[in-house]
Amino acid sequence: MTSATLERLKVDFRELTHLIQGKVLLNHAVAPYTTYHLGGPAAAFVEPHDVEDLSQLLHTLNCGQIPHLMLGGGSNVLFADEGYQGVVIRLGRGFSGIHIEGDKVRVKAGTKLVTVMNKAREAGLGGVEFFAGIPGTIGGAVVGNAGAKKAWIGPTVEELTIVTPRGEVKKLTKSEYQYSYRYSSLKLSGNVLVEVVLKLKKEPKDVIEQKVKDYFKTRRGKQPRVEKNAGSVFKNPEGNFAGRLTESLGLKGFKVGGAEVSKIHANFIVNTGRATSHDVAAVMRAIQQRVMAEYNIQLEPEILPLGDWNWDEIKDIWWNFEKNS
Ligand SMILES: Cc1cc2nc3c(=O)[nH]c(=O)nc-3n(C[C@H](O)[C@H](O)[C@H](O)COP(=O)(O)OP(=O)(O)OC[C@H]3O[C@@H](n4cnc5c(N)ncnc54)[C@H](O)[C@@H]3O)c2cc1C
Repeated sequence: MTSATLERLKVDFRELTHLIQGKVLLNHAVAPYTTYHLGGPAAAFVEPHDVEDLSQLLHTLNCGQIPHLMLGGGSNVLFADEGYQGVVIRLGRGFSGIHIEGDKVRVKAGTKLVTVMNKAREAGLGGVEFFAGIPGTIGGAVVGNAGAKKAWIGPTVEELTIVTPRGEVKKLTKSEYQYSYRYSSLKLSGNVLVEVVLKLKKEPKDVIEQKVKDYFKTRRGKQPRVEKNAGSVFKNPEGNFAGRLTESLGLKGFKVGGAEVSKIHANFIVNTGRATSHDVAAVMRAIQQRVMAEYNIQLEPEILPLGDWNWDEIKDIWWNFEKNS
């Protein structure tokens, strides 16, 4: 939606403060809520108080056709330098918490992955050790079917609670949740995940501890630790690795403005401190063009463009966005 359309709709974002109990911040910087620390401000940045508050918010925004988007831990996104003439919704404090009963772990969607991993470990439950070193929330992880090596979160999902665009709170069973590599049926569906039940496996604590250590060890030295980034930029193409292809073309260290292909892992593009989101996008395009020219492989982004991007400028990079993001 363009700003002209918004003007026509006469959206006064200040009204949100009367509508919900949670936090409403106008013209608020989004960059600090993303791991890239990039992007412009949102017209409104909202943290609903609880599910009821969220439900009321979604209902109002959708009825009024007011643009809005969800942000989890902001660790898999590239937020537009132009910001967003709409409402960025983030699940704050009221959406964090874990309850364990037997092998079932009930987690609120805004809970950090590291917290889920630690609580599961303490309870002697295995299956989420691969969260070690992955930032972000369980909501973002379930929506994007996060994983590492051959482990994914998808198979552990037992039950989900969502709020639909109309504001209805609905429970879904695992058969209503489809997933594949870095994809789930919740992605770009307009539904907001608020809670998930994971079914994990009873395992000796020392076995779990060892797996967690192994995952941390695998990452150490192989991924940038200091520079800001959003993890792997491209999905691995069938039978290959995006990082290996990029590295083979001598692109480690390749730079546009302040965005650079990590010298440690070629599937990471880092913000050296002065990058813009456009710089990151330009590096992505350069990699895609070189990989296509050399190997005839079209790399598909794993990170998602959020905010007011000019779609015509980036649709070549996110060529599969509508279909599979
Ligand atoms: C150093 C580093 C290492 C990483 N390693 C890995 C890895 O090994 N494996 C991996 O899979 N990922 C990895 N990532 C990427 C990222 O951390 C994960 O994909 C994470 O699960 C994203 O969660 P998030 O809460 O940050 O989601 P965000 O980035 O905030 O959002 C991602 C998408 O999910 C949507 N979304 C978020 N929350 C909800 C919700 N509650 N309801 C509906 N939609 C929602 C957003 O709108 C957006 O479209 C890494 C990132 C970094 C920075």
